[in-house]
Amino acid sequence: MTEVQREAMEYDVVIVGAGPAGLSAAIRLKQLDADLQVVVLEKGSEVGAHILSGAVLDPVGLTKLIPDWKEKGAPLNTPVTEDNFYLLGEAGKIRVPNFPMPPLMNNHGNYIVSMGNVCRWMAEQAEELGVEIFPGMACSELVYGGNGEVKGVVAGEFGKNADGTEGPGYEPGMELLGKYVFISEGVRGSLAKELIAKYDLSKGKEPQKFGIGMKEIWEIDPAKHKLGSVSHTMGWPLGSNAGGGSFIYHLENNQVYVGFVVHLNYKNPYLFPYMEFQRFKHHPMVAELLEGGKRVAYGARAITEGGYQSMPKMVMPGAALLGCSVGMVNVPRIKGNHNAMLSGIAAAEAAHEAIAAGRASDELTAYETTVRDGEIGQDLKKVRNVKPLWSKYGLFPSLALGGLDMWTNTLGFSFLGTIGHGKTDAEATETADKHTPIDYPKPDGKLSFDRLTNVSFAMTNHEESQPCHLKLADPEIPLKKNLPQYAGPSARYCPAGVYEFVGEGDEKTFQINFQNCVHCKTCDIKDPAQNINWTTPQGGDGPNYPNM
Ligand SMILES: Cc1cc2nc3c(=O)[nH]c(=O)nc-3n(C[C@H](O)[C@H](O)[C@H](O)COP(=O)(O)OP(=O)(O)OC[C@H]3O[C@@H](n4cnc5c(N)ncnc54)[C@H](O)[C@@H]3O)c2cc1C
Repeated sequence: MTEVQREAMEYDVVIVGAGPAGLSAAIRLKQLDADLQVVVLEKGSEVGAHILSGAVLDPVGLTKLIPDWKEKGAPLNTPVTEDNFYLLGEAGKIRVPNFPMPPLMNNHGNYIVSMGNVCRWMAEQAEELGVEIFPGMACSELVYGGNGEVKGVVAGEFGKNADGTEGPGYEPGMELLGKYVFISEGVRGSLAKELIAKYDLSKGKEPQKFGIGMKEIWEIDPAKHKLGSVSHTMGWPLGSNAGGGSFIYHLENNQVYVGFVVHLNYKNPYLFPYMEFQRFKHHPMVAELLEGGKRVAYGARAITEGGYQSMPKMVMPGAALLGCSVGMVNVPRIKGNHNAMLSGIAAAEAAHEAIAAGRASDELTAYETTVRDGEIGQDLKKVRNVKPLWSKYGLFPSLALGGLDMWTNTLGFSFLGTIGHGKTDAEATETADKHTPIDYPKPDGKLSFDRLTNVSFAMTNHEESQPCHLKLADPEIPLKKNLPQYAGPSARYCPAGVYEFVGEGDEKTFQINFQNCVHCKTCDIKDPAQNINWTTPQGGDGPNYPNM
């Protein structure tokens, strides 16, 4: 095999991913030293195209980065005006009053935003400072130096044939090399996964945990729209089948974000997260709100849930993991954007100091110390037991115990210490013989939609002639193991209908419709055999989210 020859470009800092973490790092680096050469590479066709969040934004990170964001026109237009939390039964609801909630759960001072639009605005700020941003550039490989250090990434390889050979318009891409490389790919990044394994970064830590979040944007009847209203629910329809819940946020233009998160440590392989979401919209409280409205966009993305005890080591020679490549979501608040921004700032400050001292390609230990001991660590430490309590005891006991633990942690102590998560989400899946299939109602096409129709509202696109970016370590496993033992769970856990078992009996085949992929990474996380490796497709491919 001939080695691919590539041109190389040198920078001070190379940043993978134009999410809130990567863009914050880029902006802070240029604020600290306008002469630093900084590049940001983004696999989406434009900045924001692959961003999917709730999103209620705690502006603490943005204010630290750009204190005059209001004057500069940041798209934070909708302050939260009311905060509701409901426990749902099939036909009814109980509103939990706000007063027993720990103060950290309060959304006062937060904003309902499109994080896609916030990232687009942040990219403009970064470019004004001289940051080079290249969208449509998927970073597909890491470049290592002679001493095992990370030197850079390969980005922009295009035009391979489906079998992996070079097609007529093949472009080898470039090597982008830096004194430091920041990996800010968000949840379950493909380069982060390689680095965590190579440098054994999760050694001594709890396994990372995840949820799958699905979201629709609805335009609703203006008479029902309450600008700034935030609601969260738990309970029906998941019940005891899985942890999770919903969010309903009223943003501008009579639009509402309706979202649903299912924790991926569910045991029953028949569970169908997408159909749980569709069923949820038929609850009277939600149906009443959405009736007469129209769904204008759909998307899905995994969310990190392991929290404080699952954060891997974040630094290795020449590179650092930022934001949700580490896993910085505060689970009970369903918020990670503020910590992603704070981590970008901390990484930039550590790299700036190192470069100013003439260092390169070493470990930015100051960054990791700031994350663990500073604002991010303090934010996550207070809520570290909420997720494991939920996994161990279910919804109601965990609400009481988790609430109490958050209160005592707010006062500076915990009766519970730090509870572990134990298993990975893949290991949590049980065999089908221990469970019964779940009967989901058919979507009605008004409130609920079949998966493929909804995927068309993610505007996802993948050039079909390229190699499938969802790689099976062993192609036999889906039919020989996952189908007989786990009833083929990939056909259900994927929110985009990528995986299909087609045909009957001996004729049955496993089909991967990679064109539908919305880059949520659930398959990489939940496959019981850990047989699916999500890799980057050609840059620019994937969803094209409007204002998610
Ligand atoms: C359903 C849902 C609801 C949420 N709600 C909220 C909320 O209300 N409030 C809140 O604060 N947080 C919320 N979060 C969490 C929040 O979205 C994350 O914490 C945040 O996105 C992390 O930012 P990040 O910059 O680390 O990663 P991301 O925002 O995921 O950005 C990563 C970027 O890197 C790009 N990328 C990835 N790999 C590569 C590669 N190899 N090459 C090039 N580019 C690459 C991606 O395309 C993406 O643009 C929610 C998450 C989900 C899924």
